[in-house]
Amino acid sequence: KKLSTKEIRNMWLNFFKSKNHHFLQPVSLIPVEDPSLLWINSGVATLKPYFDGRKNPPAPRLTNSQKAIRTNDIENVGVTARHHTMFEMLGNFSIGDYFKKEAIEFAWELLTSEKWFAIDKNKLYITVFEEDPEAYDIWINIIKIKPDHIFKMNRETNFWDVGQGPCGPNTEIFFDRGEKWDKEKKGTKLLSEDIENDRYIEIWNIVFSQFNNDGTNQYSDLPRRNIDTGAGLERIASIFQDTPTNFETDIFWPTINKIQSLTKNNFSYSIENYTNPKKEQTKINTNFKVIADHVRATSFAIADGVFPGNKERGYIIRRLIRRALIKGLNLGIENTFLYTLVDCVIESMSDFYPYLIDKKELIIKTIKTEEEKFLLTLNKGYEVLNKIIFSKKIVSGEDALLLFESYGYPVEQTLEIAEEKKVKVDIDKFYKLMDLKKQQARESRKELKAWDNQNELFTKLNITSEFTGWEETIHNSARV
Ligand code: ATP
Ligand code: MG
Ligand code: MG
Ligand code: MG
Repeated sequence: KKLSTKEIRNMWLNFFKSKNHHFLQPVSLIPVEDPSLLWINSGVATLKPYFDGRKNPPAPRLTNSQKAIRTNDIENVGVTARHHTMFEMLGNFSIGDYFKKEAIEFAWELLTSEKWFAIDKNKLYITVFEEDPEAYDIWINIIKIKPDHIFKMNRETNFWDVGQGPCGPNTEIFFDRGEKWDKEKKGTKLLSEDIENDRYIEIWNIVFSQFNNDGTNQYSDLPRRNIDTGAGLERIASIFQDTPTNFETDIFWPTINKIQSLTKNNFSYSIENYTNPKKEQTKINTNFKVIADHVRATSFAIADGVFPGNKERGYIIRRLIRRALIKGLNLGIENTFLYTLVDCVIESMSDFYPYLIDKKELIIKTIKTEEEKFLLTLNKGYEVLNKIIFSKKIVSGEDALLLFESYGYPVEQTLEIAEEKKVKVDIDKFYKLMDLKKQQARESRKELKAWDNQNELFTKLNITSEFTGWEETIHNSARV
């Protein structure tokens, strides 16, 4: 089957409506009355009051397609085939209604039935928690999954627990994209967390919320058991459109094409590179993908009322815009450009998010202003760097850090310019200093609760003006 993103979303929602689920419209990326969370990072994050009993849900069975932001995945964007900063999570939920059997049956029917997604059963793999014989039994005896398609996994991957409150085992569904994507070409371990491996793609996570953790890891049975599931829309789209990564699907392709028209000729996006990877081209492709990802995340965040700034959400948006601009410079685009991609974002997303159309001018203006500001900063950093190079003929770790922290000048740029001028950068020292900073930041973050895990890197941004947290991104991308 070949399905557009729009068709997939509709099919998901229609399937669950046909199973008596109440449809919930997507809500803002900004959490409501939830100081523990910087961004809505999953479908269930919007339903917390229903899950913990503070509010009554409109119905015991719910379904949605919810925009979510995961800052902890920024480093993965454009590196793996399947991660975005902002993505859409399809979900179905049971609040004290059905439990394991129905949840698994629904998932299997939607994925494999001819009437619905009609995915080849042989391409699906399942994980269950090793201490959850019930789920294993349902998969084997009711669904009749082949025993070599199901794996018992440990607590770390297959038990959802935030340290206190409702928790429970989960079962995850993976799609096998075939040997072609097995980068190590040796039947790579299924489900390795290794981001280099894009053969088995996790599409759907189903959580069986059945225990209460009293906060000291003493577990008791919950009186009312819930189901919480999440599946990545972009990933499912890449399966149905048979693309190497999520970025060649109908959601991102128009944006990638538009970027293409702005770059110099020697920088073009190459799909062929996936079958015969060349390092330089991989880097170029990644630049395209990061830009396409970041402009979408930024547009959505701005539409929800977040503006570039120095703390919390605003800071993240600022960094996303700046990072995307740098990637554009690396592709030979010499001016502000990100704002010109907003049209593509709105074009591909506004059917489900029509409010974007009203916010268009605001989004464009906000991004453009931020880009212009950052170009000035970059020029200033460039000046300082040139002075350092001229007077010392070497860039020390401290210099690189100063440029980074005080001028917002990315270390990739420092490296690139230094290389051009045939001057060395003490990059090891730079990383050492950064690691030290990170460690200090980590220590001050220790008291964070587990709900924050997704946003852990960023939640403390407001108490420091440095790039705490972000450095991991810069740090890693500089090594690509
Ligand atoms: P992964 O292991 O691939 O990082 P996850 O286990 O962190 O995914 P869950 O928290 O289980 O993801 O979220 C439910 C679903 O949402 C996943 O099965 C996946 O399809 C999708 N998803 C999660 N993170 C992202 C992301 N950053 N970009 C796109 N889709 C995502
Ligand atoms: Mg993840
Ligand atoms: Mg996972
Ligand atoms: Mg998961």
